[in-house]
Amino acid sequence: MFKLFFYTGLYLQVLVVFLLTYFLTAGAAYWLLYINKKERLRGRKIQDREAKKQAIYREIKCSVISMLVLALFSLPVVICYQNGYTVLYSTIMPRGWIYFFGSIVICILINDTYFYWLHRFMHLKAVFPLVHKTHHLSKTPTPWAIYSFSPVETFIDFAIFPLLIFFVPLHIVAIGIVIGYNHFMNLGGHFGFEFVPVKWHRHWLFRYGLSVTHHDMHHSKVNCNYGLYFNIWDRLMRTNHRDYEATLQKMEDKIKNQKIHAYANDQRKNSCSEIHQ
Ligand SMILES: [Zn+2]
Ligand SMILES: [Zn+2]
Repeated sequence: MFKLFFYTGLYLQVLVVFLLTYFLTAGAAYWLLYINKKERLRGRKIQDREAKKQAIYREIKCSVISMLVLALFSLPVVICYQNGYTVLYSTIMPRGWIYFFGSIVICILINDTYFYWLHRFMHLKAVFPLVHKTHHLSKTPTPWAIYSFSPVETFIDFAIFPLLIFFVPLHIVAIGIVIGYNHFMNLGGHFGFEFVPVKWHRHWLFRYGLSVTHHDMHHSKVNCNYGLYFNIWDRLMRTNHRDYEATLQKMEDKIKNQKIHAYANDQRKNSCSEIHQ
């Protein structure tokens, strides 16, 4: 009986951390982009279509269900860590700083590769309706969509983290950074507004990074743009949407035009206030 109370308490603690992280970060992003700075950022909005209220409620509902699943499946990992059954460690030495930073980079690359191929698998005709359809109900995603998955997808998307925790010796802070990076990249991919400098897609190295437009197009066009952190696998496997570069070019023009428009407006306001003085 005591154990049941203990595990229920632990589950609730983990759940609260997940829910707080979700509502604070997705809520802050939504408030900034869709309410507070909406007019100012109009030129950066990727789709002309607005997300419907019902779609946002669905994204929140599905994300909360995902948190319930995620907390349940994190519980054995937390218990194993507390009892010393994982390969996580807590002192930098003797592995040192190079290993610390190197392990973060390697884990991010592993996560990117895992997700790309899992994502391709989830887009197979027979698998898609059973596993991945829920995420694609959002044609115009908002930050609330970051955990809008079916329970099965939640489980397999995040299964990479226990695998890393049990099989790759990682500093406790390093795995925290890898999980935090996943959360913020996931959030960024669902902004609906482009913030990555668009001209980077012409740079020899930065073109292997992802723009917000990349994942946004995945939602609006579906069978393309599968990457999570980098545009490496999509380039290698030729799965970028054929209009990806052209869409980025359009975004670049749109952002420039909006800046010119905003500057002209400011000038007009200044000259009006001078006249009134
Ligand atoms: Zn997908
Ligand atoms: Zn998405």
